[in-house]
Amino acid sequence: MNTVNNPTTALIYSHEQSQHVLSPTHPMRPIRLHHMHELMRASGLVDSNAILSKSPRLATETEIATSHDTEYIVVVKAIDAGAIVIGMDQFGFGPGDNPPRAGMYRHAALAAGGAMLATELILDGTVKNAFVPAGGMHHHAMHNRASGFGIFNDAVIAIKHLIEQDLRTFYVDIDVHHGDGVQAGLYDTDRAMTVSIHESGQWLFPGTGNPNEIGIGDGQGYSVNIPLAPYTDDQLWHQAFDAIIPDLARAYQPDLLFTQLGIDTHRNDPLAHLSLTTQGHNLAVQKFAQLADELDIPWISVGGGGYDMTAVARAWTMDLATMANQTLPDQIPSTYTSLPNLTTFHDQGDYRIDPDTLNDIIRHNQLAIDATRTQVFPKFGL
Ligand SMILES: [Zn+2]
Repeated sequence: MNTVNNPTTALIYSHEQSQHVLSPTHPMRPIRLHHMHELMRASGLVDSNAILSKSPRLATETEIATSHDTEYIVVVKAIDAGAIVIGMDQFGFGPGDNPPRAGMYRHAALAAGGAMLATELILDGTVKNAFVPAGGMHHHAMHNRASGFGIFNDAVIAIKHLIEQDLRTFYVDIDVHHGDGVQAGLYDTDRAMTVSIHESGQWLFPGTGNPNEIGIGDGQGYSVNIPLAPYTDDQLWHQAFDAIIPDLARAYQPDLLFTQLGIDTHRNDPLAHLSLTTQGHNLAVQKFAQLADELDIPWISVGGGGYDMTAVARAWTMDLATMANQTLPDQIPSTYTSLPNLTTFHDQGDYRIDPDTLNDIIRHNQLAIDATRTQVFPKFGL
């Protein structure tokens, strides 16, 4: 492992963020972050000189209110305090995805505060990039309601703060689900460009994220969507990524890169249908590192979805190493016992798609790539 005098990368995380339970049968199990952090530790990253470990702070109510209605914030607080709120379903709470529970205000405010702290550590020059693994999960949260496990939209809150500092952000969401809450929160501004590459809403929650969703008003052309077919694998996913994202980043010339690194694209993920490996996912993060270098801009990453514990732990440990320019051996350290039976960071074994399905995927994805390029490329002279 390399040693450097100054840390390049902040890891913003606290144990508390892994200890709550949304409901006994909920697929989002925050303990995944504990298993991830233990793997980061066993791999020597937590104690590396390249990495600065920080606990998140709570986002203030004023910060949250830049992106959420006061009435909604009051409701989240009341539910957190144990009150029974009549009509909470209109704010997105109920059995299912967003169960009302004690502690939810604090946990959402910690995720948002983590993203805010990332902006602060970057703007004051402490580090050149930062990873907030408990963030990004909230990318479906809307200004007036909870959605898809998300309560306060940490990415929108942080990016609005950057806009206040007159900084333009290039946001890329590689979660398997469309980043609809982030898109909606920034839909009318050209001060941030949001790009989401996801499994098409034809097959998956939240049902949006079509190429024709391009923004409104000043924001027209600054929302970009790449909806992919189920079973898209590493190679086909990267074909779509390469056809759109690097050119747009260079054309937009942002002041900052902001990435959401959901790993529910993984081939073992129980909630969705793409077929990426951990190494396919991490290759995208390597491309982000190259873009941040090439454009000479700071970079914030947040976590996101990911419901296969072993994929979360391995992928985000690999991603942290990439951000900090550290090399990991492929073998999982023998001292790691937090999850059983992990042997390598990379997924092993070929994933075979039958030829007919493969042709369907290629056809669907090419139509999506062409539609997206037609919608937004001309505006940027591409
Ligand atoms: Zn997701």
